[in-house]
Formats: sequence, structure tokens, C-alpha cells
Amino acid sequence: MLNDKVTIVTGAGSGIGRSVAMICAREGAKVLVSDINVTSGEETAAMVKAAGGDALFFPADVGKPADNKALVEEAIKQFGRLDVACNNAGIAGMRAHLTDYSLDEWAKVINVNLSSVFYGMQPQITAMLATGGGAIVNIASILGAVGFSTTTAYTAAKHGVVGLTQVAALEYSARGVRVNAVGPGFIHTPLISELEQNPTVEAMLVSAHPIGRLGKPEEVAELVAWLASDRASFVSGAYYPVDGGYLAR
Ligand code: NAP
Repeated sequence: MLNDKVTIVTGAGSGIGRSVAMICAREGAKVLVSDINVTSGEETAAMVKAAGGDALFFPADVGKPADNKALVEEAIKQFGRLDVACNNAGIAGMRAHLTDYSLDEWAKVINVNLSSVFYGMQPQITAMLATGGGAIVNIASILGAVGFSTTTAYTAAKHGVVGLTQVAALEYSARGVRVNAVGPGFIHTPLISELEQNPTVEAMLVSAHPIGRLGKPEEVAELVAWLASDRASFVSGAYYPVDGGYLAR
């Protein structure tokens, strides 16, 4: 359970982040729903409340350090503390081989998918240390462990998220802040809708998951909620795939 744990979820207007917000709230968390997209973020907060949970929306672009700081300040202003943060927001970026990958797109994907986790953890860990600890769950990917052709920046960023998670865990676990990463396989969300529209690509993706299908956002969120909870009290610095067996091949 996450009884009254004050929880930030970034990119919570859609997909995995929305499910993390819903499931953490179901477990009793007070959720500060955040997204760059105000409409979808507010919709998630309304969905949490309609299901009987406690949520507020606060807009933030995770690629901006000041927005990450403001988000943590909002958690403290509204709820008095910060216990849990799920750094989830991310983008797919362009699909191109490395030599064709644009410099602008590289900078954008690295900023939104990797630098954002650094920008987020700085104020999050500072706030958690002030109240005796907390738990951070960073959303990486199976592409934080292996490569995938045409995803140069995305794969580099997700490997970076795993490394950042390990460093943060080494530095802060003894002071009560557990930091872990989750590596979803391909999950049905708008992020991969373009891939899914091509039946050949979709069949290829399904066949890469030994379980025989793609994942659902809530199947990732269940793991996040567990890692965020005190039931995971001895778990820190780890990378957990939730991938239907993708990485077992
Ligand atoms: P999604 O459905 O596209 O949701 C991502 C959310 O983040 C959207 O609401 C998006 O808003 C928002 N966002 C985009 N840029 C942002 C920014 N700069 N600041 C704040 N919010 C921003 O994607 P998802 O599949 O749930 O992905 C969530 C996380 O899981 C990502 O880190 C992704 O890399 C990771 N992941 C996904 C899969 C998968 O197969 N789906 C697999 C492995 C890992 P807009 O819609 O307005 O852009």
C-alpha cells in the first residue's frame, strides 16, 4: 500500500503514466499528476478522483530544470512533503539509422528522456532527504538494456536512465531514498501507435515477446506501485524489466 504517500507522476496524461497515477491512487497515494499536456493531465487527475482517489494536476515540461523544481515545490505546498516520484514522461523521437539521425532530434530526445530524469531527481531527492527518505521509480525501457535499430537517441537515453538510477541509489540509499528503474517491453500506448499501424511491424513486435502479445500500461504500473511501496524496502539500484520475456531471448 501507498497510504497517504505524496507521489509525483510525470507524463501522467497518457499511457503508462496515467496508469501509474490510477494504481498509486488506488493504493492510497496522494498523487500530483503532471504532464506537458494540460488537457490530458487534467483528465487523468479527474479520472483518479472519479475512482475515489486523491489527485491534483500541475503542468511541467520535464525537459526544463525549473519545471521539475516547481513540481516538487508544488507537492510540498499542496501536501507538505514528497514521498514517491515516478519519472515517466518520454517521447519516441524520430526513427532513422544512426548516420541519418538528426542532431536536433538527438538533442531533443536526450533532453526529454534522459536529462529530465537528472533534472527531476535533483529536487526530488533533496525534498525526500529533508523528511527522512522516499522512493523514486524511473521509467527506462527494454532499450535500457539492449539496442533496437532506428532508435539511436531513445536507446542511448534509456541506457543512461539505468546508469543514473544506479548512481543515485549508490549515493542515497543509506539515507533512505530508494531508486529503481523499470524496463517495459512494447506497451499499447500512443507512443507506439505509429508502429502498431503497420501490421508487419506489429507482428514482428508481438513475436519478439515470448508471452505472445504486447503489454498493457497497467501491467507496468503494478510494478511501479510495488517498487514505490514499503514492501520493496530492500530494493534499490535495480533495473526491473516488465517485458513479457523480451529480454530472455
Ligand atoms: P505516451 O502514451 O506517449 O505518454 C507520454 C506522456 O508524456 C504524454 O502525455 C506526453 O504528452 C507527455 N510528455 C511528452 N513530453 C513531455 C515533456 N517534455 N514533459 C512532460 N510530459 C511530456 O507514452 P508511454 O508509452 O506511456 O510512455 C511513458 C514512458 O514509458 C516513456 O518514458 C517511454 O519511453 C516509456 N516506455 C514506453 C514503452 C511503450 O512501448 N509504450 C516501452 C518502454 C518504455 P503529449 O502526448 O502531449 O506528447
